[in-house]
Amino acid sequence: MNMMAVEPQILTDAPIPTWYGVGGRADRMIVAESEEQIAWAIGTGEVVRVLGEGANLLVDDDGIDGFVVSLRSAAFDRIEIDPRSHLVRAGAGADLRRLITVTSNAGLAGLEVLGGIPASVGGAVCMNAGGKFGQISQSIAGVRVIDQQGRLQRLSVGEIEFGYRRSGLDGLVIVEAEFALVPEEAATVRARFRDCMEYKKRTQPLAENSAGCAFKNPTLLETVEGIGPAGSRVSAGRLIDLAGCKGLCMGGAEVSQVHGNFLTAHRGARARDLIELMDEVARRVFDRFGVRLEREVVVWSRRT
Ligand SMILES: Cc1cc2nc3c(=O)[nH]c(=O)nc-3n(C[C@H](O)[C@H](O)[C@H](O)COP(=O)(O)OP(=O)(O)OC[C@H]3O[C@@H](n4cnc5c(N)ncnc54)[C@H](O)[C@@H]3O)c2cc1C
Repeated sequence: MNMMAVEPQILTDAPIPTWYGVGGRADRMIVAESEEQIAWAIGTGEVVRVLGEGANLLVDDDGIDGFVVSLRSAAFDRIEIDPRSHLVRAGAGADLRRLITVTSNAGLAGLEVLGGIPASVGGAVCMNAGGKFGQISQSIAGVRVIDQQGRLQRLSVGEIEFGYRRSGLDGLVIVEAEFALVPEEAATVRARFRDCMEYKKRTQPLAENSAGCAFKNPTLLETVEGIGPAGSRVSAGRLIDLAGCKGLCMGGAEVSQVHGNFLTAHRGARARDLIELMDEVARRVFDRFGVRLEREVVVWSRRT
C-alpha cells in the first residue's frame, strides 16, 4: 500500500451521527477516500475507531479522542455482482438496505433475512448483524481488512471467528465484504425481505431514537425457573420485561414500552442517561434472575 498517499482532510470537533441522536463529538475525524488514507490514520499511532451508520453506537457526552474514520465516501460505496459465480462484493461503507435491495432484485438470496436492520456493510459484518431470520455471517465468503500495521489483507470466512453478534475482527478496519449468495426467483426473495421488514415494524419501536437491542441475549449459566435450562440462550428483552423495567426512565432515556431491550432517547437526553439506564436495567435483571446482561451497544468513551 502506498504510504506516501495524500493526507486526508481532518475534521476537528466533528459531530458523530448516531441513531440515538445524542452524545459528544470527535476531536478528529476523517472521511476516508482510499485505503491509503485509512492506513495513514493507523500510522499516526492514535486510536482509530471506525464509524459505520452509527446504528449500534453510543458516544459519551465528552466526545472522543484519537481518530474517527468514516467510510461514507464513494470509494467504499460500490456494489459489484458477478452474475456467473453469484459472488457479490460490497464496500464497507455501502448501505446494507441498498445491498439487500440490489441483490434481491438480481434474484440472489441470503441477505434479505437482514431486512430492517439499519447498518453499513462494515458495521453489519463487524457486529455479525442478524436476528430471528438469520445472520450476515451465513452469507459471507470473505472480507478485506486493513490491519493494525496498515496492511491490506483478505480473510476467507473460515478464518473469521463469527459468533453471536461478534465477528472477532476487532482492531481491524473492514473495507470490503464478499458474499456468496444463492440464485432464486427475485419475487420470492423480495417477498421474504418484505416479511422481515413487517416483522420488525410489528415488534420494535422503529420510529424512536434507539440503537436496536441494548443487550445481547444471554446464555444461562444455570437453570432459571420459568426462563430456561442452563446453556440455553434466552431473550434479554423478556428478562428486562419480567424485571419490571419497561417504561423505566433515567433523564431523557427510557426503556421502550414496545420492546424491553430497546432503550430510547427522548429530546434533550444525554449519553450519560442511556449509560446509567443500561447499568440500572442490568442491575435489576441480575438482582431478579442472577443473570448478567452484556451490552450489545458499543459505547465510545474518551481515553485521555
Ligand atoms: C431500529 C434499530 C433496529 C436494529 N435491529 C437490529 C437487529 O435486528 N439485529 C442486529 O444485529 N442489529 C440491529 N440493530 C443494531 C445495528 O443495526 C447493527 O448492530 C448494525 O450492524 C450496526 O451497523 P453500523 O454500520 O451502524 O455500525 P456502527 O453502529 O457505526 O458501529 C458498530 C460497531 O462496528 C464497528 N464498525 C463499523 N464499521 C466498521 C468497519 N468498516 N470496520 C471495522 N469496524 C467497523 C464500529 O467501530 C463499532 O464498534 C438495530 C439498530 C436500530 C437502530
